[in-house]
Amino acid sequence: MKDLLLNFLVILAPLFLYQILAADRMYGKDLLKMKWWIGVMYGVAACLCMFFPINMGDEFIWDLRWVPFLIAILYGGVRGGIAAGAILLLCRLYLGGGAAFYTVLIDVVLLLPLLLRIRPWFHTYSLRGKIVLAGLLSVMTYLLIMLSIGFYFVYRGDVWYLFQHSLEFYLFFGLLYLLSMTASVLLLENMQENARIRAEIQKSEKLQIITQLAASIAHEVRNPLTVVRGFIQLASSTMDEQNRRYMHTAIEELDRAEFIISDYLNFAKPELDRLERVEAGDVLKHVTNLMSSYATMQGAALSVEAEPGLQLMADSVKLKQVIMNLIKNSVEASSAGGGKIDVLARRSGEHVVIEVIDNGPGMTPEELERLGSPFYSTKEKGTGLGLMVSFRIIEAMHGKLEFWSEPGDGTTAAITIPTR
Ligand code: ADP
Ligand code: MG
Repeated sequence: MKDLLLNFLVILAPLFLYQILAADRMYGKDLLKMKWWIGVMYGVAACLCMFFPINMGDEFIWDLRWVPFLIAILYGGVRGGIAAGAILLLCRLYLGGGAAFYTVLIDVVLLLPLLLRIRPWFHTYSLRGKIVLAGLLSVMTYLLIMLSIGFYFVYRGDVWYLFQHSLEFYLFFGLLYLLSMTASVLLLENMQENARIRAEIQKSEKLQIITQLAASIAHEVRNPLTVVRGFIQLASSTMDEQNRRYMHTAIEELDRAEFIISDYLNFAKPELDRLERVEAGDVLKHVTNLMSSYATMQGAALSVEAEPGLQLMADSVKLKQVIMNLIKNSVEASSAGGGKIDVLARRSGEHVVIEVIDNGPGMTPEELERLGSPFYSTKEKGTGLGLMVSFRIIEAMHGKLEFWSEPGDGTTAAITIPTR
């Protein structure tokens, strides 16, 4: 029993280490570097399982070493799997090579590619799916290990030894595999989810401060502008023709500044109460009318396709602004020429999805993570406000704005808005 608990603890230890040392700091970044570490930590855990095995009274010795190995592959990918596998094998060699080493080698070589195949799938499932799949995998691994142990004993010429144990004995160990694997996956997933939520909260707090600040500054600047405009108007009535023309230009420029500021104020406080039923096709037509010449000028081809009769609940002016922001980003991203931008609208259950797809340079996961942060821009003349504002507007419409991108493979921005 003590051995059993020790094995469990050893398997869970990397989780706690990760949580304490890295979860928040590492969230969304440097996961590639982490993968080696995942492999190393779980490899060490597997070794500790081997060093402190579960002794069942007689000479039959057992441990849970394959559970950390499975986790290393599922969460650490190729790197994690290779690191953990190597450590496991080295450890086995240290404890004594020979036939036992080769059975472990064969198991590692069999499991690694198989699990790597399943891994991409695994990560598309929901929490419950992941747990079920992890459970299945642990049972499958257990059977494989049993098989190889069987062969090992056949090789040693004392198979009868295995039959000395009851079926319950083997079922018990199978259950241990199942339990420790599903528990680990459950904890790991929960930890990642928590880290994600914390990151999101931090982001939205930052956003709130910056928008409040910006809105109040904009407001403060607007007042003196109005005063200046009034005095210029007054003064210009006593001026000669020449000066009056100058003053006229000054007023025009002031109006432009005023316009930009009120526009920004609008953005900073997206209002909720003007949601109305709008037709996606109309919105897209209007936006592309405005944007197509701009796109052509920048050497990008803009094409639109909307399912007919798509209704959605939105503020059409602001929705247009968001789509224009997205198209503008796509055009700017493919400024090297040969840009192709597709704007699509389709229905998806109770929602309408509007996608802006470009074939530009794309973004790395780190860059994707930063989208929508205030003033995050990689452009010389960028403001880094476009997407921040877009996220807020779409949120205010009860929708969501998502990005998919790979470096060198273009970017897809998707707006999802309820139909009612
Ligand atoms: P700005 O356009 O002023 O830089 P945004 O908030 O609109 O600010 O965009 C922020 C950053 O996100 C951009 O500087 C760019 O690096 C990146 N980005 C946005 N859309 C795309 C895209 N379609 N392809 C590549 N990068 C993009
Ligand atoms: Mg922009």
